[in-house]
Amino acid sequence: MIEVRGLTKRYGDVLAVDDLTFAVRTGEVTGFLGPNGAGKSTTLRMVLGLDAATSGTATVGGRPYADQPAPLKAVGALLDAGAVLPSRTAYHHLLALAAGNGLPRGRVAEVLAEVGLEKVAGRRTGTYSLGMRQRLGIAAALLGDPPVLIFDEPLNGLDPEGIVWIRGLMRRMAAEGRAVLMSSHLMSEMALTADHLIVIGRGRLVADTGMKDFIEAHSVREVFVRTPRPAALRRLLAAGTDVRADGADGLVVSGLEAAEVGALAAAAGIELHELTPRQPSLEQAFMDLTRDSVEYQAEVA
Ligand code: ADP
Repeated sequence: MIEVRGLTKRYGDVLAVDDLTFAVRTGEVTGFLGPNGAGKSTTLRMVLGLDAATSGTATVGGRPYADQPAPLKAVGALLDAGAVLPSRTAYHHLLALAAGNGLPRGRVAEVLAEVGLEKVAGRRTGTYSLGMRQRLGIAAALLGDPPVLIFDEPLNGLDPEGIVWIRGLMRRMAAEGRAVLMSSHLMSEMALTADHLIVIGRGRLVADTGMKDFIEAHSVREVFVRTPRPAALRRLLAAGTDVRADGADGLVVSGLEAAEVGALAAAAGIELHELTPRQPSLEQAFMDLTRDSVEYQAEVA
C-alpha cells in the first residue's frame, strides 16, 4: 500500500534520507525504527507530500500523496499532536476537517467514540492533556476511514494506559486489513506492537524483516550461572562459547542453552547455585544493527 523507491532527501550537506526502498503491506503493523536523526520523520513527511523528495518516489495505493483525489480517505496520519488550534473544541476541529474534505458529518461522532473523547469533545483543545491531544490526532487520522495509517512516534510522552490503548488501536486497525506504519526510536515498543520491521540508520535501509525473524536472528540467548567454582566452569565452557564474568561467582554464557550448561557442569561435577536463561536484549540488537550501518557507511565513503 505504501511504496518507497530510491527515496532520497538532502538538506544542504545533510543526506537525511539516502536511497531508501521499502513497501508497507496491508493487514500488518509495520514498525519504522531508527535512532533519533535516522531520517524517519523526513521519510514520512515525503510519503505525506509535506516535503519534496530530492530524488526517488513515494506512493500510497499507487499514487503520490499530492495526486490523491481525497487525501483523508487515502491516508490518515498522526505527525504532531500539538498541531490543533487551542481555542477550538475537539468537535469543531473534526467537523471543520470533515467539511473541508467532503466527509459526512456523522463520521465526527464515530471517530470521537472510537478514540474515547466523546465526553470531552465540547472542551477547547487548549485544555487537553498530551494523551487527549494524541487521541484527537488519531480521531482526525481515522476520519476518512482510510486504508493506510501513518503514526510518527505515537507513544512519545504517553502514560502507560495511553500506550496500551494506542497499541490496541494499531493492532485492531491492522486486523481490519489496513496498512499501519508506525515510527519509533525504541525497539522495545516495536517488539510489542509491530508484525514487520523496517530499520533505518543514517537515512539508509538496514533491515526489512518480519518481527519474529528479527527476534530470532538478533537475540543472543544468554544463560546466567552461579557457581562456587567459576574458573573451573569457565575452562569447561571455553570452546566455541562466549563466557564473561558477572560478579564474584557468576558467569554469563552465550551460545549454549541452560540445559546444556547444566549437563556439562553436572558431568564435570561442578556445583551450580543458579542457572537462569536471560531475556534477549532486542534494544541491544537494534543498536548493534544501526551502529554497523554507520560503520559500513564510513567504510564505503
Ligand atoms: P528522525 O525522525 O529519525 O529522528 P529526521 O527525519 O527528523 O530523523 O532527521 C534526519 C536528519 O535530517 C537529521 O540529521 C536532521 O537534523 C536532518 N533534518 C531534518 N529536517 C531538516 C530540515 N528541515 N533542515 C535541515 N536538516 C533537517
